Amino acid sequence: MEDYLIRATAAGGQIRAFAATTAVMAEDARQAHNTSPVVTAALGRLLTAGAMMGAMMKGEKDILTIQVKGDGPVKGLTVTADALGHVKGYANVPDVILPANNSGKLDVAGAVGEGILSVIMDLGMKEPYVGQIRLQTGEIAEDITYYFAVSEQVPSSVGLGVLMTKENTVKQAGGFIVQLMPEAREEVIRALEENLSKIDAVTTLLDQGKTPVELLEILLHGMEVEFADPAPVRFVCNCGRERMERALISIGRDELSNIIEDGEDIEVNCHFCNKIYTFTVEELMLLCRRATSGKQDADGSGM
Ligand code: ZN
Repeated sequence: MEDYLIRATAAGGQIRAFAATTAVMAEDARQAHNTSPVVTAALGRLLTAGAMMGAMMKGEKDILTIQVKGDGPVKGLTVTADALGHVKGYANVPDVILPANNSGKLDVAGAVGEGILSVIMDLGMKEPYVGQIRLQTGEIAEDITYYFAVSEQVPSSVGLGVLMTKENTVKQAGGFIVQLMPEAREEVIRALEENLSKIDAVTTLLDQGKTPVELLEILLHGMEVEFADPAPVRFVCNCGRERMERALISIGRDELSNIIEDGEDIEVNCHFCNKIYTFTVEELMLLCRRATSGKQDADGSGM
């Protein structure tokens, strides 16, 4: 089944909500980066959040980046998403192995540790919007919830989950974000809190075969809900040889000359999808001619 997300409004616009199924995305990321189970879970959760938060943006060129930096063994996670459902991401250390936590679950918090979560939104303005919070639990969902409360002043509830098979591939992944709009009335807030207090873990619901629409129906039980059409989401990288060439050119003539003097082909890999681009010495010499001496702004392997 393809991944997709559903957006909805409830109680006449007092609540907006998103739910997504992202097992293909999380599995694609796992395969691209050969992540261990705990990192697959951490990255899968962040990719899922990215897919839904990307859908909150309006412009086709808007770019959202979520960055987690922690003192745990995974060190960091980066996800970027656009408003069209294209999501990509990576973990700084993909092969972290940790024992299960006290509840017998993958210890995402232990892998991430304490640190900072940043959200950077490039909405085509002169300056990107940057929001930053201290990680609350390192489990990702709670951290995103806290981010919405503190940085965007939007009371939200976020659920994210990745369930693995015995073979350590992704069996289920998905999540939801439910947000109270400023005009939300007390009885609507109470009804939502009541629903949230009773809901099972996202992975449990997905594993029961619940769809994103059904997830939202549980979350928004007792309210009038309007669903938008499903929107596809997927793990996709927009890197390419040309982008890598620009990145190499940007390191400057001096640095390129040093590489050329080594007399060997080099491999440049894209952080986001792990694709490897090889450049021969001859190709590097051509790039060197296009480079200027001194360093320019790097146009790296990012978006
Ligand atoms: Zn790539």
